[in-house]
Amino acid sequence: MNNTVTTRFPPSPTGYLHVGGARTALFNWLYARHMKGRFILRIEDTDTERSTQASVDAIFEALEWLGIDWDEGPYFQSKRFDIYIEYIQKLIDSGNAYYCTCSPEKLEEMRKVAMATGKKPKYDGTCREKGLKNPDNAVVRIKAPLTGTTVVHDVIKNNIVFQNTELDDFVIRRSDGTPTYNLAVVIDDITMGINTIIRGDDHVNNTPKQIMIYNALGAQLPAFGHVPMVLGGDKTRLSKRHGAMSVTEYRDMGYLPDAFINYIVRLGWSYGDQEFFTREELIEKFSLENIGRSAGVFDIDKLLALNADHIKTSQPGKIAKHLAPFLKNLGFDIKDEPLVEGVIKTLNARSKTLKEMAEGAAFYFKDTVSYDKDAAAKFFTPDSLGILKMLIESLESLELFDEKSLETVFIKAMEVTGLKLGKIAQPVRLALTGKTVSPGVFEIMNVLGKEKSINRLKLAVSFIEEKGALHNI
Ligand code: GLU
Repeated sequence: MNNTVTTRFPPSPTGYLHVGGARTALFNWLYARHMKGRFILRIEDTDTERSTQASVDAIFEALEWLGIDWDEGPYFQSKRFDIYIEYIQKLIDSGNAYYCTCSPEKLEEMRKVAMATGKKPKYDGTCREKGLKNPDNAVVRIKAPLTGTTVVHDVIKNNIVFQNTELDDFVIRRSDGTPTYNLAVVIDDITMGINTIIRGDDHVNNTPKQIMIYNALGAQLPAFGHVPMVLGGDKTRLSKRHGAMSVTEYRDMGYLPDAFINYIVRLGWSYGDQEFFTREELIEKFSLENIGRSAGVFDIDKLLALNADHIKTSQPGKIAKHLAPFLKNLGFDIKDEPLVEGVIKTLNARSKTLKEMAEGAAFYFKDTVSYDKDAAAKFFTPDSLGILKMLIESLESLELFDEKSLETVFIKAMEVTGLKLGKIAQPVRLALTGKTVSPGVFEIMNVLGKEKSINRLKLAVSFIEEKGALHNI
């Protein structure tokens, strides 16, 4: 077996990528990246009734947003039937599998008898030793061991022991010639060189069956790790009732992918008390040993707090890409990267989501500022008219329009008027943003630049003058 750690994410495309699935993908991806191994994407689309192209696209879209890239694939199980058939034949030829022609009625009878005697329904082995040679309408069954135990050496849950008497000769090929789920998974995992399988513990009952197939083929077992489910606040399995399930819904709510992965990884893995991790740190620190044995409880408030931290500390250039769709939604298609980065720097400490940031940024990009009515009544007074005019004059004479020189202009205005900075800044803020709450006025003016800043102050002056004329003051 190759020594390179090789993991996989094999979603069934029967819906969007949900929180639990994303966490499984992340664990496998992080482990591969941490170990400098390989990560493979495989689409398990053998259930043709439930699999859709829309789901495949949704899964790709979600993985792309999460920043989960793959080294190989995507493979599609629906295109690999020849390989499965070849291996089924090998199992038959080696005496590890056999044809079975028991009718559905007979199987139903077996089930009834088992139930009536309080036993677990299982195939009774009628065709096991018949040596049937590919009859029509036959299924193929694996020859399961009749005694002993099958032990899953789980890297998270330790040993999980299954009594072989509880297992049976399950079907690996249906009568229409198609492989069953467990067969396809194992053949893929073997032929793709997967040596580490981390998946939800809802799959734990498949694992002994899969181990039987490995054993029957004489293949080396991968390391298995079954991760506890993600729960909602009421400690039941996370579902739609608890809020958004689809990963892309979180994108659309304004979460940064790095914050989202930080949060969902922490739902099942820990590194001391540390809560905040960059993507690079996760790759550096991720290990299977620190995956927890108890289920993580999804808490949107914690996710929100982490998002605010990531927004605050991420490079503006990195945020810009994710902010763009939110700005676009508000009608701003801004191509000027330095401008957007400047805007982000003024808002990153005060935005919990990118949606909030885009809303807070709108005033920068609007052609005209619409003033909050109450604020205009309060701050656009005859007094502030004088202040604004004075500031305009000083600002016009500024050669360098940076925060430092802006500050000197305001200090001078404070000296001349004897007013506190707040009194001077409030009408300026309103003139620049239309609101009373915003980033600092020097920061804003620095981003807007000289011309726009002065223009907005002049518009406020006209507004106050017109208002004065209207009210005869
Ligand atoms: N296709 C399975 C799922 O989406 C994953 C199977 C596995 O990890 O072995 O749940």
